Amino acid sequence: MVRVRFAPSPTGYLHVGNARTALFNYLFARKHNGCFLLRIEDTDRERSAVEYEKALLEDLHWLGLDWDEGPDVGGNYGPYRQSERVHLYRQLSEKLLQEGLAYRCYCTKEELQERKEKALAEKGNAGYDGRCRNLTRTQIAAYEKEGRKPVVRFLVPSETIEVNDLIRGHVVFEGETISDFVIVKSDGLPTFHFAVVVDDLLMQITHVIRGEDHLSNTPKHILLFRALKAPLPQFAHMSMTLGPDRTRLSKRHGATSIRAFKEAGYLPEAFFNYLALLGWASTEGQEIFTREELIREFSLKRCSKTAAVFDHQKLLWMNGLYMRKTPPARLLELSLPLLQAQGLLPAQPETKLLARCERLIALEQEKFKTLSDIPERIGFFLKPPVYDPELVEKYLTPAARQILSELATVLENQPEFQPALLENTVRSFCQEKNYRPALVFHPLRVAISGMTKGPGLFEMMALLGKEETLRRLGSVLRNETFRTGKDGGAGPAA
Ligand code: GLU
Repeated sequence: MVRVRFAPSPTGYLHVGNARTALFNYLFARKHNGCFLLRIEDTDRERSAVEYEKALLEDLHWLGLDWDEGPDVGGNYGPYRQSERVHLYRQLSEKLLQEGLAYRCYCTKEELQERKEKALAEKGNAGYDGRCRNLTRTQIAAYEKEGRKPVVRFLVPSETIEVNDLIRGHVVFEGETISDFVIVKSDGLPTFHFAVVVDDLLMQITHVIRGEDHLSNTPKHILLFRALKAPLPQFAHMSMTLGPDRTRLSKRHGATSIRAFKEAGYLPEAFFNYLALLGWASTEGQEIFTREELIREFSLKRCSKTAAVFDHQKLLWMNGLYMRKTPPARLLELSLPLLQAQGLLPAQPETKLLARCERLIALEQEKFKTLSDIPERIGFFLKPPVYDPELVEKYLTPAARQILSELATVLENQPEFQPALLENTVRSFCQEKNYRPALVFHPLRVAISGMTKGPGLFEMMALLGKEETLRRLGSVLRNETFRTGKDGGAGPAA
């Protein structure tokens, strides 16, 4: 059975590159009816934080990923946090020590540094020189007496290491270039290399799918697997994700954490789809996929060896596409926190209010690019408008208000607030009074919504209803809701 893992370190928010690693592991597992597990690599105690672990889980869930084993869901191969597995690393490092495949090294940092500088100057080689490989009992006792705390080093055999990487193909590493590396630090905690290998071994990982930045670690891992007499998993190293300028994706290129995209109003479904296309392509060149299609189509063979370029514009385009095809009810559900955060909806909105919001979302749906457009475009309906002084000066001039006051009288007698009927009434009003429609429509729109754009004017009025439309017109005419900020007032209504 296929068993794959996503192994993030909780030292920051989930980054696009890592999210893609998680996604590819997930797709691979689901495609092969395998197991996808989440392992938290938190042995770096200084940099790891519980908040980041919590955030990682939330962000992965937001993306729509679920896992079969992990710190929150358990499983038969736990614990799933490296900090809780220290006894296992200790057992296996003891085993390597007993078998003579690892040794204790008592060199101090200063000694190592000094010898490294010397070796660099003399031979151009800066690896560990193997000084503690064959210490005698007396030497060990002397070091222990001095109170030195040893590290455990792996005794690197000089052999050539070859790997058939499922993405990169045949890769050869020369064993001589690797010096005896540390597997257990002086505080008793494992190094990254050792913990990864022990976990992959004990968790029976069949495929290690990770970023190309780990390719250079792979020979070390292979040697450790061999020393532990464990079968090798298959390796697949995914190309890096770059910014449009082809440098490594970073904050300079805009948002890079999944959280930032979520907060900017991207849809998880769109993001999921977009991420899948970073370094992977279908045979047909199709770009829009449902989750099920991606699971069916995904294959490591079609992962590219060349770096993927993260294109914010393309993501935005794809998000717009998803915004248009997502049912308004779901858009409302997803934008609810945004609407509430902006004070446009109460914490417990009534069903009737929600139903109206949904209708508004449906009306405006074609224009949304992200969820953040929703409060912006439907906010007029939920809260009395705040008038921009520039718009007031331009559209709500004394002459325009005179027209609006005449129109308000007509609207008071309008029995039904339906878009088509309202349009009829307003157009007839223009004709009778001989007003150019633009002179009426624009001020009317600004008066009732505070905006020059938005849904159709008559749809807006119908949605607001008679009472609210007239109330807004009334307060504009009474000059209640705004001040121009220039002359201290927008001018008298009459
Ligand atoms: N914890 C490592 C990282 O966050 C992953 C190691 C691995 O996948 O082997 O990059």
